[in-house]
Amino acid sequence: MKQPHAITSILQQLLQQSQPLYREGKVANYIPALANVAPEQAAIAVATIDGQLHTAGAADTAFSLQSVSKVFGLVMAMNRLGDDLWHRVNMEPSGLPFNSIVQLEWEKGIPRNPVINAGAIVVSDVLVSHYSASKNAFLTFIRRLANNEHIYADQAVYLSELEHGNRNAALAYLMKSFGNIEAEVPQVLAHYFHQCATSMNCQQLATSLLFLANRGVQPHNNEQVCSRRDAHRVNAILSTSGMYDQSGEFAFKVGLPAKSGVGGAIVAIVPQFGVITAWSPALNKFGNSVVGMKLISLFAEELGLSLF
Ligand code: GLN
Repeated sequence: MKQPHAITSILQQLLQQSQPLYREGKVANYIPALANVAPEQAAIAVATIDGQLHTAGAADTAFSLQSVSKVFGLVMAMNRLGDDLWHRVNMEPSGLPFNSIVQLEWEKGIPRNPVINAGAIVVSDVLVSHYSASKNAFLTFIRRLANNEHIYADQAVYLSELEHGNRNAALAYLMKSFGNIEAEVPQVLAHYFHQCATSMNCQQLATSLLFLANRGVQPHNNEQVCSRRDAHRVNAILSTSGMYDQSGEFAFKVGLPAKSGVGGAIVAIVPQFGVITAWSPALNKFGNSVVGMKLISLFAEELGLSLF
């Protein structure tokens, strides 16, 4: 592995190299509160399980977690429900956009996987049904992982999604019609939008997911966040489905479990090494950050990190 100062200078170089791509993507505008984010921003952070943190660019600028929040919700639901979760959501790649509805009817309300919207809505239902205050429980969980009490959900983003959430409401009601949503739909959606609206920066995000690179144990306090088996399983799902209908290409080009969100963040897990997070708001047609993909793929290539 490279020396620490070498990693930081690689990150700085990659950031410069990726800047011409700023204009190739478009900031998500179907959530109006996200449409106002300036596109020409980027950051990358690498946190290692032995406690190093390397960053370049705007690594302490907060962004909306959006679908990256699905990883945290999934770990909470796996911890609460155990293997019963897999009766309610599948573990197969969808090959379709993150908010697609068509498979749900064919597959009788069972989402293809827990990191597309339908799957994360089922996970939200599990959390709403198992916690008396699921939104607080979610924030508490993230704050503990990031070792930071100040992480919060952005109310403007939350309200904006709530107001423009017809597609997600359609997914939830369709699943309810098949008996795969237990709580009331508005309550489930409120939890889902709240977790998507969590605001974090690249450094916090990289640190908070280190347990997935470390067999379920969070390095800073040795907490067993999830079992070793579940850490492997989450990484398997992220490898096959975390980048939506671009997951195959990401596995081919980068070869790491990863999750993206329409806020422009991408997190990639490097087992036994650490976590890479990149953020830049402009997205490609799959909803993945253009510069974020570039940064992570160049870094993984430079260090030879592909698991395959
Ligand atoms: N909150 C967004 C939605 O439900 C999350 C989607 C994403 O980040 N891909 O549409």
